[in-house]
Amino acid sequence: MVTVQEATARILQALYTPRVESIPLAQANGRVLAEKITADRDLPPFDRATMDGIAITYQAWYEGRRTFAVTGLQAAGMPPQALQNATHAVEVMTGAVLPGGTDTVVRYEDITIQDGTATINAPTVERGQNIHYQGSDARQNSCLLEPGLVLSPAEVAVLASVGKPFVNVFAPPRAAVVSTGDELVDVVETPLPHQVRRSNGHALVAALESLGVHASLSHLPDNKDVLQTKLRDMVEANDVMILSGGVSKGKFDFVPEVLGSLGVVKHVHQVSQRPGKPFWFGASASGKTVFALPGNPVSTFLCFQRYVRPWLLQSLGVQEAPAYAVLAEPFSFPPRLTHFLQVSVRNEQGRLMAYPDAGGGSGDFANLKNVTGFLELPLEQTRFEAGEVFPYWPFRA
Ligand code: AMP
Ligand code: MG
Repeated sequence: MVTVQEATARILQALYTPRVESIPLAQANGRVLAEKITADRDLPPFDRATMDGIAITYQAWYEGRRTFAVTGLQAAGMPPQALQNATHAVEVMTGAVLPGGTDTVVRYEDITIQDGTATINAPTVERGQNIHYQGSDARQNSCLLEPGLVLSPAEVAVLASVGKPFVNVFAPPRAAVVSTGDELVDVVETPLPHQVRRSNGHALVAALESLGVHASLSHLPDNKDVLQTKLRDMVEANDVMILSGGVSKGKFDFVPEVLGSLGVVKHVHQVSQRPGKPFWFGASASGKTVFALPGNPVSTFLCFQRYVRPWLLQSLGVQEAPAYAVLAEPFSFPPRLTHFLQVSVRNEQGRLMAYPDAGGGSGDFANLKNVTGFLELPLEQTRFEAGEVFPYWPFRA
């Protein structure tokens, strides 16, 4: 048996190397960037008017001039004009290139234009006002986005602006979810009194889906030979497998033995935690990774959030800052195990307050609908006071 910290360390030493794929920009939102994005030009690429109005030479205003003959019009998208005479002005539109010879833009609200002459009514004009200078946001060739970034609409705009109709992202792993257990029947079946409908596989597929991973789902019986045959092919065909059930000490818990016989080397089996103590993790020489989660539904769910999700994100180079929350009410847990306490967090004046709602144990998956995540209470402590801060593993916002 290892601690949660040791299990985490072993899992994060066995990251997989994702493939890179090129996808159209329209599909980039939510994907993980796999290349460095640099500015192909200065941003903005030219001195740009930020207001509709007139462009003038500041010196003329400074020397007392208030009226300017309007001798040109510079719309957005037009090549730059040049001001021939410092006593003149060019009308400029937002997004237009600043005309040559001008250095200041006075907006329409501060002027009147009559018979081709603009009069400045504003009491003050600052040199260089209403201009967004070339390169002031980013210089050509400077790095704008780093690999490992989860692309959002803001980054999609950056990609478009630097001319990336296609972008390299990390491909999600080929993943398979397998539940086990002879007591479990399909969701469409009517269970006999001694049977239950299986739910873990569906929860795992959904959890993977929300990370952009499309996993297959199957169910296998508690039969060593069948497990051996089916898992052999699946380990071969996938980058990562997530199993549920069959990893405890029961007479029909064959999963660790079968995985071992298939060359999946055990890195973790049994962690000093509750729920989820029987957790198993291993990898094959060819880099195939297997998470075998205890079948109790809360254990399955917790182990996914605590171990599988960070492994997946770190494999893709995604840096996620650890979350913490403040225990809102005192809580006791005497066993020398790390306890993952179900909590509901509320943001109270900027502090994330975690209210315990322990539920009825690791089989009580219906309680998960009442909570927002797990608070990780360390094994060294048995009494946890209100106001103490602990790592928090959210599974919903
Ligand atoms: P196991 O880890 O196989 O010993 O299973 C522990 C408990 O979790 C048993 O009560 C199982 O019936 C239950 N269980 C295992 N797999 C599932 C599943 N896919 N859906 C719902 N309950 C499950
Ligand atoms: Mg079982």
